Amino acid sequence: MRKHILIAGSGFAGTWAAISAARAVALAGKEAEVAITVVSPSANLVIRPRLYEAVIEDMNPDIKPLLDAVGVQHVAGTVTEISSDARRVTVARADGQAVQMHYDKFVLAAGSQLFTPPIPGLHEHSFNVDQLENARKLEAHIRSLAARTPTGARNTVVIAGSGLTGIETAADMGGRLKAVLGDDAEIRVILVEQASTIAPHLSAAARAVVEGALAECGVEFKVGAGVVSIDAQGIELSSGERVESDTIVWTAGARAHALAAQIPGEHDRLGRLVADACLRARGTGDIFVTGDVARAATDDLGHFALMSCQHAMSLGRVAGHNAAAELVGLPLHSYSQPKYVTCLDLGPWGALYTEGWGQQVSLVREDAKSLKREITTKWIYPPAPDREAAFAVANPDFVIVP
Ligand SMILES: Cc1cc2nc3c(=O)[nH]c(=O)nc-3n(C[C@H](O)[C@H](O)[C@H](O)COP(=O)(O)OP(=O)(O)OC[C@H]3O[C@@H](n4cnc5c(N)ncnc54)[C@H](O)[C@@H]3O)c2cc1C
Repeated sequence: MRKHILIAGSGFAGTWAAISAARAVALAGKEAEVAITVVSPSANLVIRPRLYEAVIEDMNPDIKPLLDAVGVQHVAGTVTEISSDARRVTVARADGQAVQMHYDKFVLAAGSQLFTPPIPGLHEHSFNVDQLENARKLEAHIRSLAARTPTGARNTVVIAGSGLTGIETAADMGGRLKAVLGDDAEIRVILVEQASTIAPHLSAAARAVVEGALAECGVEFKVGAGVVSIDAQGIELSSGERVESDTIVWTAGARAHALAAQIPGEHDRLGRLVADACLRARGTGDIFVTGDVARAATDDLGHFALMSCQHAMSLGRVAGHNAAAELVGLPLHSYSQPKYVTCLDLGPWGALYTEGWGQQVSLVREDAKSLKREITTKWIYPPAPDREAAFAVANPDFVIVP
């Protein structure tokens, strides 16, 4: 019987895990002995880093032709249960059937989900840009504002959380609102942050650039203000202030997919599984973790992969390779990704590009913006459905470096 590699998820990590696993099997000439299956809701790769933008076409490219080209099967559905002792998962297939699937090696690549603490009104009255359907809902809402009575609340968008997603959403929002409400509309975009400064996770130099850029984009800041509650008319802050707004966007970070909790082993505070150097979930035999569900060291200096597609794509290549390598007798590959960069869109102001874990400012404004465009419209998209071309960039050593 053919051995089976099962990959849950077709995002950045899952797609690259699939190609990389197929490459390793082909390198060993064992295509007849090993089958590879990806399970995900649909054979698409959602370009999550673009979801803060007005939703456009091509934010979820079809990867079925690519998977066909490299000999990977796709099953439309979601993994609902992982039985690691029995090496079996339960899949709720898109056609409504629940099926059991056996694996010899399992790669968990189910990504992350928005962190939603129990704040009254958060689920009912806020928008977010976490998944494609959320971004579409926000886009439809923004478009619908034009038909509402022009009030301060209609013209005000509050973005809660000033991490990278909150910053990009805020910088872009003025333009999105004006496109719908007209250039003369008196709009307000307010960025709310519970820490004492916006962008608390950036270096001081990077933060200074972001503060200046957002101020130039007309974004107001409310710092030291946690969100206490949200209702249909606005938002209450821990400072005691209330802001009337028809549009609250919640961007307060992410947590590993809940499936990670079903796998035994150590989990970090984000719910990610602690991985060994080969991206095996520590304490398991046949389970590899990758992308946003994996806590993996990027170097020997104490740095760990972030929930980012920058890391997910490399983690995917390594996890897929190793899952296959063990079955076909190739050497395993240790994950290492010492170079870390950030490239942050800052709306009409431009963008910011930093290098290193210390986030040294390397490029700003249009120079950084053209790099950001290159990254988000080309580099992170899946390769063309050509077996050899895809294999050429699926090597576990391959890293795109600006
Ligand atoms: C608005 C926004 C902006 C971002 N900006 C950046 C950026 O500028 N730079 C950057 O590097 N990163 C950015 N990120 C983070 C980046 O998108 C994620 O780190 C990346 O998508 C993680 O890749 P992944 O493959 O682990 O997970 P995902 O891309 O989330 O893919 C998860 C996959 O698993 C599937 N899945 C989910 N549940 C199941 C299930 N039960 N069974 C089977 N399949 C399942 C999903 O459908 C999907 O195919 C941003 C994220 C967001 C939301």
